[in-house]
Amino acid sequence: MEDCIFCKIINKEIPSSIVYEDDKVLAFKDISPAAPIHILIVPKVHVANVEALDPQTVGCVADIHMASKKIAKLMGINEKGYRLITNSGTEAGQTVMHLHYHLIGGMTLGAKIY
Ligand code: AMP
Ligand code: ZN
Repeated sequence: MEDCIFCKIINKEIPSSIVYEDDKVLAFKDISPAAPIHILIVPKVHVANVEALDPQTVGCVADIHMASKKIAKLMGINEKGYRLITNSGTEAGQTVMHLHYHLIGGMTLGAKIY
């Protein structure tokens, strides 16, 4: 999708610090990390957010969750634990309208972080 920053990252039109990629998802470091480990996991298909999912696209959520396990292992936090968060819509604080999950960890997380 034009003018979508995460589509541009997926298409390698703008740089990112990629930590994992497969045919369905891309994962890269958040530019403004909220914790020692803060990775964004995005589907390669453009979907705006959870609210925009439909029966055709919802499978990407499973892809993201399976990728999350691999990324947590790559980062060495699969056993310690991590948080997976997605914001859907303005009041949730969503700023980039391409579905993304924040994988956050590397510290003991407070009840309200992010
Ligand atoms: P959200 O508030 O859930 O929409 O999260 C968007 C996230 O994208 C924020 O944590 C930003 O720091 C992050 N972000 C925005 N632009 C970039 C970028 N070019 N590369 C990496 N992370 C980004
Ligand atoms: Zn997009």
